[in-house]
Amino acid sequence: METLSNFIAGSFQPAASGQTLDDMSSVTGERLCTIPRSDSQDVDDAVTAAKAALQGEWGQTTVAERADLLEAIAATIESRLEELAALESRDTGKPFRLAATIDIPRAIANFRFFASAVRHHQDGFQEMPGAINYTLRKPCGVVGLITPWNLPLYLLSWKTAPALAMGNTIVAKPSEITPMTATVLAEILHEVGLPPGVFNLVHGLGPETGQAMVEHPDVAAISFTGGTSTGAIVGATASARFKKLSLELGGKNPTVVFADCDMDATVDGAVRAAFANQGQVCLCGSRLLVEKSIYSEFMERFVARVQQMKVGDPADPDTDMGAVISLAHRDKVERFLALAAEEGGTVLTGGTRPDLPAPLDRGAFITPAVIDGLTQRCRTTQEEIFGPVVTSYAFEDEEEAIAMANGVQYGLAASVWTRDLSRAHRVSAALDVGMVWVNTWLLRDLRVPFGGVKASGVGREGGDLSLHFFSEAKNVCVKL
Ligand code: NAP
Repeated sequence: METLSNFIAGSFQPAASGQTLDDMSSVTGERLCTIPRSDSQDVDDAVTAAKAALQGEWGQTTVAERADLLEAIAATIESRLEELAALESRDTGKPFRLAATIDIPRAIANFRFFASAVRHHQDGFQEMPGAINYTLRKPCGVVGLITPWNLPLYLLSWKTAPALAMGNTIVAKPSEITPMTATVLAEILHEVGLPPGVFNLVHGLGPETGQAMVEHPDVAAISFTGGTSTGAIVGATASARFKKLSLELGGKNPTVVFADCDMDATVDGAVRAAFANQGQVCLCGSRLLVEKSIYSEFMERFVARVQQMKVGDPADPDTDMGAVISLAHRDKVERFLALAAEEGGTVLTGGTRPDLPAPLDRGAFITPAVIDGLTQRCRTTQEEIFGPVVTSYAFEDEEEAIAMANGVQYGLAASVWTRDLSRAHRVSAALDVGMVWVNTWLLRDLRVPFGGVKASGVGREGGDLSLHFFSEAKNVCVKL
């Protein structure tokens, strides 16, 4: 069993207090590794190193030099793809196949994309009578990156790449449940020659390590991805200190299916949207809204497809769904299933513990569940479960579909399935969300705005929006 370390000022080290936490496997229940339980002393050491690095050679690097470094990072991750995918799968319980085809390739793409984006980035210039204005763009300084457990390297790299591209220094805290690939990323950044203190990693608990980062006076900006209730705490703490803040939070996203959809493609797309990564993607389509005239036929086909999904060993290439993140999380999912029954829901399929051989019998496995018969106002409809559970509803017409889709506190994403192009545009415009997919789900171009409205977050990431978040614009007006 491994002991993972913090990475501060270019060196791997334990927590100053010597305290540790266990990282448990959700697949077998065994202990995978221990990590430092960092406190405000470790965070302060990391911030001090990051501040010093801003004054050193890193502060003098050119855009081209930083873009070269990002490309070197991408190439190194690529050369260790299998190893990283295996670690991500062990740490999260997700299928190795998913980690090897989505998570790690996306981390590589994040570094490559921002290497190119920063090389091509242009800033403003405005001419006025008798004067010119131009924009200088400077790094924010020390930035704090806080990430969740569902897509560990994917999301950490999505923040690290633009932050480095713009010349910031970083203190990062991954979820304590999934510390492994972040630690390898620190190794890789060290190996490609990032100066000491530019990237610092502090492991630990959110309310201790994360909170200390958000409170630290020398952290200029916080980029946070996680749950809505944690986001509210992070937001309140950071706003009171006037820090720049990006919050990417939870969702309860609708998959809206009209009678004129391509039924085969829609069933496939809706299943993927509901259950990718065991339903643990913030963008998952966890509410299935289907036009009444096709509801029975669609649900029959949907349920049949869900029943074909293979739940089991994440290392098996035929596995569609691995374990959820922890036994505690499976308990939470099961509590929602019990609540759904109390609220009048009918389980059409799933929601049971599969019969798996040892040691998987000690893992957090649960079969994908489909529930119908719930009202719009009940808790199961309203609250984010963040697991392999989809609830389904029939709607009469477009107006009712939009009202149902918008009838929750969240506003992250939606998908709309129809062959009617005018309707697709109309409904997309009417949905209170940050992102809409039409006849597809989770098709990503890294240039486009990513983020949510309402309780799903504040701000947008992606392309220039990320480069702008991780920099401060300064206008210079010159009288001619
Ligand atoms: P979480 O409990 O909110 O944790 C997210 C991160 O915040 C973790 O690193 C956590 O550390 C840390 N944290 C907890 N309390 C903190 C505090 N007081 N101050 C600073 N940091 C603190 O979320 P999660 O359970 O890991 O992830 C699932 C949630 O993330 C879901 O709601 C999902 O929808 C959302 N999510 C959103 C997006 C998006 O782009 N919108 C993407 C992915 C996931 P610990 O793990 O140590 O508690």
